[in-house]
Amino acid sequence: MILLQDLSIKRKLMVIITLTSTVALLLASAAFVTYDFITFRRATLRDVRILANIIGNNCTAPMTFDRPDEATEFLHSLKAESHIMQACIYRQEEDSVKLFAAYTRPDLAELQPPPPEPDGHRFAADSLIVFASIVLKGERIGVIHIRSDLEELHNRLRRYAGIVALVMLAAGFVAFLLSTFFQRLISKPVLRLAEIARTVSNEKNYSVRATDHRRDELGILIRGFNEMLAQIEVRDEALQRAQYELERRVEERTRELQQEIVERKRAESALAEQAKELTRSNEELEQFAYVASHDLQEPLRMVSNYTQLLARRYRARLDADADEFIHYAVDGANRMQILINDLLAYSRVGTRGHEFAPVDLNEVMAQVLVNLRQAIDEKKAEVTLDALPTLHGDQSQLLQLFQNLIGNAIKFHGPQPPRVQVGVVDETREWHFFVRDNGIGIDPQYADRIFVIFQRLHGYSEYPGTGIGLAICKKIVERHRGRIGVESEPGQGSTFHFTIAKR
Ligand code: ADP
Repeated sequence: MILLQDLSIKRKLMVIITLTSTVALLLASAAFVTYDFITFRRATLRDVRILANIIGNNCTAPMTFDRPDEATEFLHSLKAESHIMQACIYRQEEDSVKLFAAYTRPDLAELQPPPPEPDGHRFAADSLIVFASIVLKGERIGVIHIRSDLEELHNRLRRYAGIVALVMLAAGFVAFLLSTFFQRLISKPVLRLAEIARTVSNEKNYSVRATDHRRDELGILIRGFNEMLAQIEVRDEALQRAQYELERRVEERTRELQQEIVERKRAESALAEQAKELTRSNEELEQFAYVASHDLQEPLRMVSNYTQLLARRYRARLDADADEFIHYAVDGANRMQILINDLLAYSRVGTRGHEFAPVDLNEVMAQVLVNLRQAIDEKKAEVTLDALPTLHGDQSQLLQLFQNLIGNAIKFHGPQPPRVQVGVVDETREWHFFVRDNGIGIDPQYADRIFVIFQRLHGYSEYPGTGIGLAICKKIVERHRGRIGVESEPGQGSTFHFTIAKR
């Protein structure tokens, strides 16, 4: 089987047809020869038995009259039957059976008569041995033994072998010729299919078809194959279309993306340009605010001094209206001075900051408490402090930051005396500070607004101030690369959080 596996279908079919017919013929011949062999053996046995009977009958007289020479002479007539190897007559004597007469073919002189045996026969390797009783008037008077060779049987077998071989040769040849012719019926369409399959796989050409209109299983196979090709062709087309569509979409999307990238880059550079412009105008503004507030200080101081002088010198010397007007002028000049100072402080954060250096916040806080002493005492405020770290920053700005937040915490107190807590949490990359109070609190919707310059939630008469303090805090915190925010509810106190980067 394994040997057949790699042969072409053409050879396979030829081998199968030839082999099958040869084996069938061989089996038929074997059956015929076996049948003939058995029949011929039976016929040989029957002939030898008949011969034994005839000889037995003819020898009864010589046996009865004790004439062994006559019996021997009779036996010698068997010379004519060349296949008889030996014939012996045994006579029944009182208590034994004795050899009476014998004949042995001349070429077998050394063949001795065998001892008598009971009736029967057996086939030896080269001969048939028969023993039969000699009966006279119903009485067994002796035994006859005949041994016949099987030469004829063997000759016959040899002849058959020759005939079978010749027939096999001729039949094998005819089978070969027929198989060469008939195998095409099967192999041709299969080979054509194989060729088409090769074309399809090599050239990826699914439009080829096998043509055959037979109605057998091969026809079904070919039609199935064609149908399969048609389906593959349809799918291949669909696949190619889908691939083309996909490629087109990818191309389109790539183009869009490239366009987007270009636009985004353009927008980014415009944004960067705007940011640069903004920084520049911011710096200019800061510079302007600084210059303006700085330059305004001098004339304002003069206005303030002279209105105060006016107040001191002319109070109660003019009429009541004049006193009131002078009071407003003094008050206005003072507030303006405070405003100008705060504005100056605000513009200084960006433009006049100091180099960063290690700052011990405990020292800073001690100074803050000294600066706020008056307010603390007035409001009976209690300020508690955690142990504070030493960090890298602008000392005077950090002082301003804490002072503004603690100052606000005292200023915006509720009915209770102010309680202010300053704490810090180490958050690895930055310090997280908080300033908590028990004051009036802030509506969360204003949590962002209060850090914008001039934004205040109260009137000046209620809580004095300029609305610049928290804007300054925000600027200082951002200069220290941190964030600031507030957590609060009206009436619940406020907690201002801010961070300072460690490096
Ligand atoms: P100012 O204190 O001069 O009014 P700020 O910028 O310091 O200006 O504060 C802005 C506003 O934020 C204040 O007017 C006040 O309404 C609110 N605010 C600030 N700190 C507190 C606080 N601790 N408790 C309640 N409100 C506060």
